[in-house]
Amino acid sequence: MGLVWLGIRQTNGFRVAHRHLLQGLHLSSSSRDSLELEKADLELVREAEELLARHHSEISGVAVALQTTKARRYYGLDIDLELSPVSICAEYSAIGNMVTNGERAISTIVAVSMSRKPNEYNVLPPCGKCREFMRAFGNPYVILKLEGKRLRKTRLSNLLPMPFEPE
Ligand SMILES: [Zn+2]
Repeated sequence: MGLVWLGIRQTNGFRVAHRHLLQGLHLSSSSRDSLELEKADLELVREAEELLARHHSEISGVAVALQTTKARRYYGLDIDLELSPVSICAEYSAIGNMVTNGERAISTIVAVSMSRKPNEYNVLPPCGKCREFMRAFGNPYVILKLEGKRLRKTRLSNLLPMPFEPE
């Protein structure tokens, strides 16, 4: 909750503070809840970018790279069938690869898309459905671009603070 108040103090305006409340990402976007990237994290980002550079297409515009708690890496692309509700996010593909290889615990995950500028990429936060899905595979670090520029990592639980809990 402290971060919400920080947002209010910094912006001194209800509308902006309210927007922070609505965008769960901003609740965890202070450096207090996030860590600097380590070498392995930067490698993961670069591998996701390389995967996307090789395989982006009219149905795939996002690549995910994840590292498991056993330090193995798995990768996936989104499959975006235009106007189709059966499209899947790249997180699903990467996690499917992980499970197919007998692992179920994610240590760190990152998603990238192509930027409008050539040879540049964006790091994307996971959508709400993916946050819920990823929760079945631990409480991984998610690599994010915070405050519009810096790459940091934060725990999934910071992005999904009040998850669905079936009885
Ligand atoms: Zn998603």
